[in-house]
Amino acid sequence: MSKIICWKCGKAATKSMPHWYYDEQLHQIIEYQVQDITKHYRCYCDDCIEKVKAADKEDVANYIRLKKIMMFNRALNLLEKQRINMYKYKDAIDVVEEHIKNNPDKYDSSYEVIAAIMLVHNRVSSKMQYKIGKYQVDFLLPEMGVVLEIDGDRHRYKKDYDSKRDAEIKKNLGYGWDIVRIKTEYIEQNATKIVKAIEMVVEYRETNHIPWRKLST
Ligand SMILES: [Zn+2]
Repeated sequence: MSKIICWKCGKAATKSMPHWYYDEQLHQIIEYQVQDITKHYRCYCDDCIEKVKAADKEDVANYIRLKKIMMFNRALNLLEKQRINMYKYKDAIDVVEEHIKNNPDKYDSSYEVIAAIMLVHNRVSSKMQYKIGKYQVDFLLPEMGVVLEIDGDRHRYKKDYDSKRDAEIKKNLGYGWDIVRIKTEYIEQNATKIVKAIEMVVEYRETNHIPWRKLST
């Protein structure tokens, strides 16, 4: 059997290429090594494999960065379609743009970008992708006692899962907290009313004298 040479430089190869993919849900590179060095796979010498790995990681980082820019641009396009006066929202849009740059993993969709813009514009403080027990919620609004979830089509077929999830989240947050689910179609048509919808839930709680406990963090 002829010896296997480095795919890049031609020296004797010692390692096969680690195979990897970018998991969109976990926001992580999942890497797995192909065990045997055979001609079926691209193989590398010790020097080259580190360079190849570093280049791959950079590609993924660039991919994520570009994806988030496209997501952000789409969110602004969606707002313009609703004939929203963009200049009125410029300050909030700038804040969210800066936040995405520094926290790309916090944003999963254009709808979340829009919700973030509306929350900032209305001075509602929020924590994004907040972990509660084993679940992660889209927005935690600690001053309002509300969890805000953005519901896309993917939610339509898992109502049972959602009610179990909601019960678990409420149990963890404490009595009185509300989970407000806003559908993406609603955001597409009534972006400026997101905060009003949340406030209605809070008002209902107040008029009915339902107490809620602030998180002790
Ligand atoms: Zn090499």
